[in-house]
Amino acid sequence: MTTHQSSVAGVASATSSNRGPRTLLVKHADVLVTMDGERRELKDAGLYIEGNRIVAVGPTSELPASADEVLDLRGHLVMPGLVNTHHHMYQSLTRAIPAAQNAELFGWLTNLYRIWAHITPEMIEVSTLTAMAELLLSGCTTSSDHLYLYPNGSRLDDSIAAACRIGMRFHASRGSMSVGRKDGGLPPDSLVERESDILEDTARLIETYHDEGRYAMLRVVVAPCSPFSVSRDLMRESAVLARRYGVSMHTHLAENVNDVAYSREKFGMTPAEYAEDLGWVGPDVWHAHCVQLDASGIALFARTRTGVAHCPCSNMRLASGIAPIRKMRDAGVPVGLGVDGSASNDGAQMIGEARQALLLQRVGFGPDAMTAREALEIATLGGAAVLGRDDIGALAPGMAADFIAFDLRQPLFAGALHDPVAALVFCAPSQVAYSVIDGRVVVREGRLATVDLGPLVERHNALARTLTQAAR
Ligand SMILES: [Zn+2]
Repeated sequence: MTTHQSSVAGVASATSSNRGPRTLLVKHADVLVTMDGERRELKDAGLYIEGNRIVAVGPTSELPASADEVLDLRGHLVMPGLVNTHHHMYQSLTRAIPAAQNAELFGWLTNLYRIWAHITPEMIEVSTLTAMAELLLSGCTTSSDHLYLYPNGSRLDDSIAAACRIGMRFHASRGSMSVGRKDGGLPPDSLVERESDILEDTARLIETYHDEGRYAMLRVVVAPCSPFSVSRDLMRESAVLARRYGVSMHTHLAENVNDVAYSREKFGMTPAEYAEDLGWVGPDVWHAHCVQLDASGIALFARTRTGVAHCPCSNMRLASGIAPIRKMRDAGVPVGLGVDGSASNDGAQMIGEARQALLLQRVGFGPDAMTAREALEIATLGGAAVLGRDDIGALAPGMAADFIAFDLRQPLFAGALHDPVAALVFCAPSQVAYSVIDGRVVVREGRLATVDLGPLVERHNALARTLTQAAR
């Protein structure tokens, strides 16, 4: 992995002249959460990594004694990297916008569209970097992003450039909107694209970037924004295109009661029936929110292995309701976690999102509706399944070398160390001490190793100012 050596230069000490893949040894973690088939939690344990994959997991005493780089993680909890299945990273330019602070979905969108119409390619790249930095520091190692508006020459390539620069494993979703206000849709006409252009650009992106291989760092997803912003034809043709290339499909569905009412009035069906009618169910499909998915929708999703991205903070922020995650999980629906766009959260704190998932299920369905370990499982294995991956989400031989470490000696965990795994969810959200993605150290001792955060945040804030002023 020669391309990754620069990130660990100066720390590594070569122990052999062997020219095989670069090796990394993690040892003495207080607890190592495997998320393997037996859900083992190991004490005084570690990992041995060759290149970008895990070769061994176990007690420190059973692992090789040396490696090109050794991380002694005494005092830390190590676990698989968290997987974010729904986001709109460009929205990190428009957090806490006064006119959109107190509205439900449709009103919130209407207030923001007129600002987003001024977004530029640089804004996409910078906001994606900032959003990814926030995700990485909060434990996320793989993220999807749903970019569905492309004003002023913006392209999905701008997000992809950011992911490559910061070192995040990325599922880039080519979103789209095609039904503007003059055709009865919600978005302004200036923000919608021609359907033929959308399909053509989506094919270009898949052919240019999509890596279907194991340990892929970059995949492309076909993702019309929502049933209320694209036509029936585009939904159908997008599904045909995705299946021709063998890539995943993603959209928003059944987010709140107005969304359901729109579907009934416009299409004469519930959102789940509409999705089925369009070919938008199956193991290669995942839908964001599904707060108002009814019993037959849950049964349909379970039967077809259609995934759900659960976004508890956003659902609370927009008062969309409490998604029936307990029922979905019991029925066998694949469920992952999503922070959702930064204009409806307005934080992208991944471990915090797992905590909110637990708390919100309990508000809705009782104190045993979700345990801390189930919340962590949804945030790791759940997300991996929803994105169609079996090479991330667990620490086991043959899995991708993606892991995170939390320092258990912080005040926020004090008094909770009789169960550090549960503490991670019950206590206040922590930032990570380490994050390793594809075998590369991306966060070291709590600091991002790939991007200089100070100038990035300064540029981000300047662009956010330019954007909101342009909309005045
Ligand atoms: Zn969303």
